[in-house]
Amino acid sequence: MLKKNNGKYNINSLILCGLVFFVIAATAFCMVVNSREAAEEKQRIAAEKKAEEDKKAAEEAAAAAAQKAAEERAQSMSVQPGVPVGTTEVNSDEKVVYLTFDDGPSENTQKVLDILAQYDVKATFFVTGAHEELRPLIKTAYDAGHTIGLHTYSHDYAKVYASVDSYFSDLEQIGEVVKEQIGFVPCFIRFPGGASNTVSRKYCEGIMTALSQQVLEKGYQYYDWNVSSGDGGSGCTKDEIIANSETDKYSHVMLLFHDAATKNATVEALPSIIEYYKNLGYEFRAIDRNSYVSHHAVNN
Ligand SMILES: [Zn+2]
Repeated sequence: MLKKNNGKYNINSLILCGLVFFVIAATAFCMVVNSREAAEEKQRIAAEKKAEEDKKAAEEAAAAAAQKAAEERAQSMSVQPGVPVGTTEVNSDEKVVYLTFDDGPSENTQKVLDILAQYDVKATFFVTGAHEELRPLIKTAYDAGHTIGLHTYSHDYAKVYASVDSYFSDLEQIGEVVKEQIGFVPCFIRFPGGASNTVSRKYCEGIMTALSQQVLEKGYQYYDWNVSSGDGGSGCTKDEIIANSETDKYSHVMLLFHDAATKNATVEALPSIIEYYKNLGYEFRAIDRNSYVSHHAVNN
């Protein structure tokens, strides 16, 4: 208790009061600071949570967009009876080269894919059912942005061209193989020997005339070529393949190669051929639903 006439007590009391006031003020100050810090921490946690949610939403949107694009790509490349594929009307202002590889997948497919990746160009692979163990390369090529087409399962002329039914049963067989790899049956096909082949006459008179119409009716499109690398022949050298492949005669080049274990010269020639067309300002495209269609005259 403060006593008016006792100076000592008064001073002590004042000091005590001051201390009490200081403690109260300090405590109050700490409480304010703590509550501000707590509020800031709460804000920080909320901001972090929001950033995480935004990131997750963006990732989900990107995944959904990628999924949609993948579905649209598959849909556009799949067989749809009654929906025409391809065009013969080309934009002559454009210069486009379609690199096409028949008979794979093979022991050389990965090397071909590596070269295409190195130059960032897309191509088309017309595959067969040979080499079961190499079939995953079909998916590898598709996932890398290349187009997969059907070349027949057996590639055995005697079997494939024995009859119209025999051809379609073989085509369906390779269609299923490809579907196992990429999830759908593509609408792009190439006849063994091309639509102009005359070998088929030995097995079935008039079959190419029938097939070249019926594949279209069933929702496929067939692609021949206007430039051949000549690598189908045995013993074709790298230089011969380069000389055969390089031409500035066409605005749209459909170039035939073979993807086989024996075709090392094709792999060796590929970089020069790509550089040649790049230097001429050509764009490299994988075949799609709107691509230029090269058809040979049917001879059987
Ligand atoms: Zn072939």
